Amino acid sequence: MKKTKRTEQGQRRMRTCLIHGTVDSKHWEYNHHIVPPMSASSAYRLDSVKRGAEGFARFGAENHAGEPLIYIYDRLDEPTRGMLEENLAYAEDGEMAVCFATGMAAISAALGVTTRCGDEVIAHHMLYGCTYSLLVNWLPRNGIATKLVDLRDPGNLEQSITENTRVVYLETPVNPTLDLIDIQDIRRRLNEMNAAREESKKILLIVDNTFATPYCQRPLLLGADLVVHSLTKNIGGFGTDMGGAVIGPERFHEPLLSYRKDFGGVLSPKSAWPILVYGLPTLASRLVNQQKSAMHIAKFLERHPKIARVIYPGLESFPQYDLAKQQMVSYDGKFAPGSVLFFVLKGDWNEALTAAHTLIDDIAKNGYSITLAVSLGQIRTLIEAPFSMTHSPLPDELKSLSGLAPGSIRLSVGLEDWHDIVEELGGALDRLPISLDQQLEVGHVDGSELQRKR
Ligand code: PLP
Repeated sequence: MKKTKRTEQGQRRMRTCLIHGTVDSKHWEYNHHIVPPMSASSAYRLDSVKRGAEGFARFGAENHAGEPLIYIYDRLDEPTRGMLEENLAYAEDGEMAVCFATGMAAISAALGVTTRCGDEVIAHHMLYGCTYSLLVNWLPRNGIATKLVDLRDPGNLEQSITENTRVVYLETPVNPTLDLIDIQDIRRRLNEMNAAREESKKILLIVDNTFATPYCQRPLLLGADLVVHSLTKNIGGFGTDMGGAVIGPERFHEPLLSYRKDFGGVLSPKSAWPILVYGLPTLASRLVNQQKSAMHIAKFLERHPKIARVIYPGLESFPQYDLAKQQMVSYDGKFAPGSVLFFVLKGDWNEALTAAHTLIDDIAKNGYSITLAVSLGQIRTLIEAPFSMTHSPLPDELKSLSGLAPGSIRLSVGLEDWHDIVEELGGALDRLPISLDQQLEVGHVDGSELQRKR
């Protein structure tokens, strides 16, 4: 007997549903497979020109029509990626998902379908470096301006919004500082401001949920209009494939599919398959363990005399602890503070910068369980220096203003035994000289220069 998606899944817990997925996928009839199959066909056989023409005519509108899908060409639609999209939409409580080649392609598409020349975006003043660069270096070429505002205080919205504002864009937790932004509060304020606006001028809220993952937070339920993800991170989970997704209500489906068709940043089915088969099904189990380890490691770092500050939403000392407990909640209602830590070493600007580089280089040289690498949210624990690496496109002034100190370190906790992570961090911290006295020649990073270099 054929299982039906919502009714069967609706009686099960999400951890189970993530494993078994949408068994009655409209993208592929595969009731006799246990594992979803992988498709690999750039073009599809059409029985007649009439069927081909029908496929083009129906493209993007299939969900409204309820007609069977007609596959034509991978870049338009394709079964394995389609199955992943169905499962991602389910996991985020959205009506649809559209997958892209990378997280950046997904973010470009989300902004591409919601803005046009003359519009303004308001973004939180700290963002992943490439998102910042997209907003500040590229969108202005299309006549789209961005204002960077501190959205930790949602009250700052009112004074920044103009007639032309079309999108509020934010990450929460923010990469890498882990600041939180109150999604419900922002939604409430936008609703008030939108009340007097006609439909096409309403301000939309786009939330990058990469750090939390849908396991820890579901922004659509809190009031976001669209959620974006880098699937490369915790949803993919194993560090093997790049990917991105935009998830939200059905009304954005056709524009997103058309945007993807024409800009071409489509997720390959060969990358969709591991995310569908390994990544998403293990998301809950991985996060449960990664969070436990993150908490142990955060407590260890908090006690360490060479560390000035440890930021982790699970710590009672986290400046927005109440908001964390309210907003970051797992599917079964438990506090879910995520798997990324941010900590800052003691010292003034140069000392702390030198100390952070020394510590990370020590780990790169002597570590086994911790790897020096960008990216995050995979089974391996990764460490990096966001000030000089992932967030180098941001100018220094903006970094200091938004709490990204030179001596800061981002640690993405994996699935290793946390004792090994603590021992390696402890060893490297012990070896760190107390007074670094310019032992290393570390020059200041000139943000404006990096921004020009991109
Ligand atoms: N959003 C966040 C919060 C990220 O950390 C990243 C990458 O690190 C991206 C988006 C971009 O994702 P991708 O590298 O898959 O393009």
